[in-house]
Amino acid sequence: MLETMKLVQAKKLGTQGFTRTLDFDLAKLVEEVGELAIEVQINQGRLPQSKGGEDGIVGEAVDVVNVALDIAFLAMAQTGDLTVEQMAETLRHISARKLARWEEKVSLLESSNN
Ligand SMILES: [Mg+2]
Repeated sequence: MLETMKLVQAKKLGTQGFTRTLDFDLAKLVEEVGELAIEVQINQGRLPQSKGGEDGIVGEAVDVVNVALDIAFLAMAQTGDLTVEQMAETLRHISARKLARWEEKVSLLESSNN
């Protein structure tokens, strides 16, 4: 799965060094969200195509996910010696819980519209 592949990559890079800190990755996340915002503005006709990159909305959304996963890795690596598989399972567990909450919200919206 994608999150496990990213966690393996993150583990290879380790948790030390200038580019391996939470605040550095947070800055990169903001940068990627900015790139995503530009692509959305291009899609909506508010910015010219020349302002965008080659990745488009989907590529920039993937960049956001990858940096966010790296932040999650660094946070989990701080707390102990979890294996990559345990980290991936933690992410899947939290994702399932949050998706269930979204499902409840969608159900409430659907029932209020009927
Ligand atoms: Mg990008």
